[in-house]
Amino acid sequence: MARKTIVYWAPPTEIAALPNTAQNMVTNNLVKTRFIADKILDNIKKGDKVGLKVHVGEAHNTHYLRPDYVREVVKAIKFKRGIPTLIETQGRGSNVEKIEINNDYTICVGHRKSAAAHMEIAQLHGYSESVIGAPLRFIDGEEGIDRKIVKIDGIDLKEVSVATGLFDYDKLVVISHFKGHPFAGFGGALKQLGLGCVTKHNKHLAHFGSMFSVNSDICNSSKCNQECIKACSVGAINMNGKSAVINESICYGCFRCLQKCPIEKAIIRPTWNNIKKFVERFVDNAKAALSFGPEKIRYINFAFDIPAKCDCVSNASVPVIPDLGIFSSIDPVSVDKACVDMETDAPGLPFLNNNGEWSKPLGRGVEKFKALMPIVDTSLQFEAAVKNKIGSIEYELIKI
Ligand code: SF4
Ligand code: SF4
Repeated sequence: MARKTIVYWAPPTEIAALPNTAQNMVTNNLVKTRFIADKILDNIKKGDKVGLKVHVGEAHNTHYLRPDYVREVVKAIKFKRGIPTLIETQGRGSNVEKIEINNDYTICVGHRKSAAAHMEIAQLHGYSESVIGAPLRFIDGEEGIDRKIVKIDGIDLKEVSVATGLFDYDKLVVISHFKGHPFAGFGGALKQLGLGCVTKHNKHLAHFGSMFSVNSDICNSSKCNQECIKACSVGAINMNGKSAVINESICYGCFRCLQKCPIEKAIIRPTWNNIKKFVERFVDNAKAALSFGPEKIRYINFAFDIPAKCDCVSNASVPVIPDLGIFSSIDPVSVDKACVDMETDAPGLPFLNNNGEWSKPLGRGVEKFKALMPIVDTSLQFEAAVKNKIGSIEYELIKI
């Protein structure tokens, strides 16, 4: 019988040996982060360049992973004489840039779509070298399009644009905040690989069925100033007679041509993928990211402060289960499965419903994210990952 993958688990209970003054949850969890890091980072050697994949959280999100925990992992890598760098990719970006609350109060959304704006949020959320002890680098460049095309035999995709800078490192530590997600069901290690390590091209293809294209029956360049061509920063659009043509392998889904074209429906707006396709495509992306070398990667999931929505949204509401602790493994599927299993077994917390009223907590044995967001299915990620042979849902939990 094949051996099960080991998942180390540090529960969020107090460490008896800590002096009374230090017995508070944060100190406790920082110490446990170090225990976990020392256990799992056995593969790091002196001089290794180590990329730590992080997510700095969207603007106005208050549940993103606190940088203090990442700092502990950085310290552990330095102790082993490794050279840590925090790595991140640009968000897919949204064509909605502002929401007006009233005449004198406007908030911005989609802050993470370029390096400059993303860095501002990172600094605001404490993801800076002065706080964490390692610099932050965007491995997909300024606009999120610097890529290495990796061929795969995926469920739905045959090639994926992986962030080119990923391959500059000797080792990778994927640090995830475990929480719910309105499409993926939950966010953990698989999502960090599949959406967090690819460029905007494949972030777009996870969310949408296709890239942008032109309806040559409607497009008519004699009635416009070819605004689409001027708007495209990557030269994906050319003319073919009177009609524009988009090279879909270059397009990265920025929406600018659609916004600038003066003729309605000349540019075809892609349609959203359904939940299953979204999950299968980002798990395909994860398979491509693993071309980095699965044996060189370690995963640490922090299951603290767990709302049903993701760090990528501005308003993630309140936690729906108590803190579960820290999980780590050499297998992205096992570490995520251990988190989902424990989330299901955990008692729920009271949560705010859409009317702003407190609802009764969900009980033990109920998969909370699905119960709160009926369109999602947390099992889809595991089914796709097993089909793609990128990990195991069989694991042995070892408490440390
Ligand atoms: S897509 Fe729009 S802007 Fe571009 S050539 Fe056609 S009509 Fe003009
Ligand atoms: S969406 Fe349009 S403007 Fe943006 S990259 Fe694609 S073709 Fe170019």
